[in-house]
Amino acid sequence: MMIRRAGKHAVVLGAGVGGLLTARALTDFYDGVTLVERDDLSGEGREPRRGVPQGFHAHALLPRGLRIIEELFPGVTEEMVADGAVPYEMIVQLRMIMGGHEFARTPTGERGISATRPFLERHLLRRARELPTVTVRDRNQVTGLMTDVARVAGARIAAAGRAGDEEELPADLVVDAMGRGGRTLAWLETMGFDRPAEEVVKVEVSYATWYLRIPEGALEERMVLVGTYPGQPKGAALCQVEGDRWLVTLGGNAGARPPADAEEFFAWVEEVVPADVAEAVRAAEPLGEIGVARIPASVRRRYERLTRFPEGLLVAGDALCNFNPIYGQGMAVAALEALAMRECLRDGTEGLARRYFTAAARALDPAWQLSTGADQAMREAGAARSRQARLMGAYIRRLQRAAAHDAEAAVAFTRVTGLLDPPSALMRPSVLWRALRG
Ligand SMILES: Cc1cc2nc3c(=O)[nH]c(=O)nc-3n(C[C@H](O)[C@H](O)[C@H](O)COP(=O)(O)OP(=O)(O)OC[C@H]3O[C@@H](n4cnc5c(N)ncnc54)[C@H](O)[C@@H]3O)c2cc1C
Repeated sequence: MMIRRAGKHAVVLGAGVGGLLTARALTDFYDGVTLVERDDLSGEGREPRRGVPQGFHAHALLPRGLRIIEELFPGVTEEMVADGAVPYEMIVQLRMIMGGHEFARTPTGERGISATRPFLERHLLRRARELPTVTVRDRNQVTGLMTDVARVAGARIAAAGRAGDEEELPADLVVDAMGRGGRTLAWLETMGFDRPAEEVVKVEVSYATWYLRIPEGALEERMVLVGTYPGQPKGAALCQVEGDRWLVTLGGNAGARPPADAEEFFAWVEEVVPADVAEAVRAAEPLGEIGVARIPASVRRRYERLTRFPEGLLVAGDALCNFNPIYGQGMAVAALEALAMRECLRDGTEGLARRYFTAAARALDPAWQLSTGADQAMREAGAARSRQARLMGAYIRRLQRAAAHDAEAAVAFTRVTGLLDPPSALMRPSVLWRALRG
């Protein structure tokens, strides 16, 4: 049902998680929404695709992200569970080891689901395709924008492998959701606009992932997350996923490199995860090869600070802000941005870019604050830091230590990192008291 008409046609560039959620939000306001995607989406979508190579690695969906996805596509959580996604109760079947402390396991009332990224995307794509006003143009590469003085009037696309043969897609709104390689920076320059300021935080993260078959019953939990912390740049995520498999991703933060060699892979697992989990991994049946990835930096583009921006163009998902993946925030933040866009469109299209970029910046601020704060602490372990940064780091360490035996401290920490509560919730007197006593 249309909530308030904003125009005839909107085009979303890129059909990753960001693009799919954006397209869904736009169906409330435009007569038609076209999703343009370079990859072939006609297959079953069981394997990571070329345009989303990160889909091979663990993709934890933070609780806030799952809530928004369910709000945009009601019933999709149950559909995914029925199709094999693994539901788990937080933080009972999710084992969290943060700052070197294994958190007390206690119900929070939140349920999560564990699945691979291609699985999640396949379900969102199916739901998007079911919407009568959505058209998916896969196997089409975005080649540029249609422009009209200071306004974007549509997109230019070319069928895969036919770059010279362009087609024009006129639109009232174009959203760049093409991921880390989003093209808006270059387009702004061509149109005579300034580029936004960029905040670049060097993270030097490396991943190594192996899919394994762990016999049913060997592990009680559904997911084990081991965070990195100053002095320990090695982490891991073990997730039971669809297809009766486990996905084990080793994460090296601040320059640490997980191995692609089986024996060294096991050694890393044994170093960071609890002994019973390591034992189950050692005894597992490997499925395929170990795959690796490297992420040099987190990048935030400050579009909200620009004074001039073309009408008819917005940016969402990783193209707007991408994060150190170790904290699992990207998809939840893309979901928050889709909600921000929906809220802004409810008030019409007047000054849309300015209002949307401001709202999106506000929505993603907590995630950026959490991840860059932790990254700074990682990089500067042992180095001189500001008094405030040192105090905050010491406080978080105390809270993590308290969370090992204090269920409420564990819940408070998990709700903030799951983006359900703002970071300021960690400073509530009841939490402060637990950390200090802890
Ligand atoms: C190694 C790794 C691990 C991660 N782990 C997590 C995690 O645990 N939890 C989490 O929430 N997030 C995680 N993320 C982040 C997450 O992948 C992204 O934040 C999320 O997918 C949103 O991205 P997006 O949709 O904006 O872009 P993408 O997912 O990158 O999608 C962009 C899309 O645009 C298409 N495209 C690009 N150029 C063109 C073009 N010219 N024409 C047409 N189409 C084009 C691509 O094919 C692709 O489909 C991880 C990222 C990495 C790199």
